[in-house]
Amino acid sequence: MARPLEICCTACGRNALARAEPLYEGFQKRGEAFVCTACGHRYPSREATPFADRAVAPRVFTDADPPETVRVFKESERRRCCAWCAHFVVNPFGQRCGLTNRETEATGLCDRFESRAEPAVQPQTPPKPRDPLAGLFGDGTLNT
Ligand SMILES: [Zn+2]
Repeated sequence: MARPLEICCTACGRNALARAEPLYEGFQKRGEAFVCTACGHRYPSREATPFADRAVAPRVFTDADPPETVRVFKESERRRCCAWCAHFVVNPFGQRCGLTNRETEATGLCDRFESRAEPAVQPQTPPKPRDPLAGLFGDGTLNT
């Protein structure tokens, strides 16, 4: 059973406890406001507070939402990712661009992209390196 002050916060989308704040008008208690302890969102009245024990409130996110695989790149863009760039350097301390020497994301897109001549074979990896982005992009074959 849900605790009396448990809410499905519509501001942060989490199940959280609400903190009751009495509202006074002069010395007269006028009502209560409720504050989400997770994000601090303030509901001005009991009626406005999305208590969890209330009949299933509309939630922004449900557990039924399919876990969408991130496929943000089109095939044409895919090859322009830093991960496929000749300047992309991966070492145990992170990944960076060899041109700017800045930390970079494998999924980054860059004007100075230069196609890598061949798939990088890391010295410490076995002969058939696993595509580190396979999970992100799907099991595409790399024909560079
Ligand atoms: Zn909240």
